[in-house]
Amino acid sequence: MTLHSQLPIFTGMEHSSKGLGIVIRSERCKEADRLLTLFSPDSGLVRIISYGARKSVRAIKAPLYTEGTFSLERIGQSELWTIRDIDVISTHEGILSDLGRSMPASLFSELVITGRSADAALYSAYCRALDLLEDHEPESVAIAFIVVFLSLSGFIGDWESCPVCGMPYGDGEVLGFSSAEGVPVCHRCDTMASSLILPPNARRYVQRIQEVGLEDAMLLSVSPMQRHRIFRYFLRMLRLSYPGRLRSIESGIWDIFGEDDES
Ligand SMILES: [Zn+2]
Repeated sequence: MTLHSQLPIFTGMEHSSKGLGIVIRSERCKEADRLLTLFSPDSGLVRIISYGARKSVRAIKAPLYTEGTFSLERIGQSELWTIRDIDVISTHEGILSDLGRSMPASLFSELVITGRSADAALYSAYCRALDLLEDHEPESVAIAFIVVFLSLSGFIGDWESCPVCGMPYGDGEVLGFSSAEGVPVCHRCDTMASSLILPPNARRYVQRIQEVGLEDAMLLSVSPMQRHRIFRYFLRMLRLSYPGRLRSIESGIWDIFGEDDES
């Protein structure tokens, strides 16, 4: 299992602490115990051991994607916590039972864990994206969350000019990709011989999402085929931006290199 050294601890250095959070990863660690990663808007990522029933009669279960106010208790002097109580806001249970929704959700979690800043703005985007996943088309939600995530991470810019050379994109310009920088770039800075491109209409759709935000992005009009192409573009892009770190993409569940389906 992967432990992330940059994980901060829950607010307050005391033996107990209480705050808002959402379970973004749940891994088995010993027979019945689970290692949870809690995303807190105030404290970032917090590691929690959820003991199986055999160890504690009052074991509190916190399934993946449970959002609520968590009362935590520190385990000895460690940076690990255990759950004393949860005041549940949402369980997002519609996500876990549906692979088409749970896969994007697990990608969102990996992006949060891999990304630079697990802060309050990203917390809000993550929780709202899970809410949207419960009753919107999963690819639309995934595209919108990825666009917001890239915007918050700050290394893509505004999709108006090339983040490498600074040149404004032309109206009809097809964006390429810089494998060295891990970002979409102008055609002059493309290092991938046009093998990962974003056409102008797709770029305008992405820009609109960035302008209107997650919820209103669900109202933007886009054909299912165009949406699917952009979705696949982002999966291929993220795989290059975060090499080897996004298991949900590496797992091969999504067909990201196949030919476009013809309508
Ligand atoms: Zn450039």
